[in-house]
Amino acid sequence: MISCSQATKQLWDYVEGAVDGAQRRVIEEHLSVCRRCCGEVEFAEELRGFLAAHGDTDLPEEVKVRLTSFLDEL
Ligand SMILES: [Zn+2]
Repeated sequence: MISCSQATKQLWDYVEGAVDGAQRRVIEEHLSVCRRCCGEVEFAEELRGFLAAHGDTDLPEEVKVRLTSFLDEL
């Protein structure tokens, strides 16, 4: 079982669909037993919706980095 901090670090990639099958299972295993991280996933999915709505071209890399750091701090 990975820790909350490890799960959070991978959360963005997970939400973005950038993880492979093995990573996805590890993260989902953690999320299934961790309410705190489940909340983070819901939040991350909202952010993903925001990103999708505004398009990649409107979002500088700096903003994505900031959002990722924000998720790390949740
Ligand atoms: Zn957790």
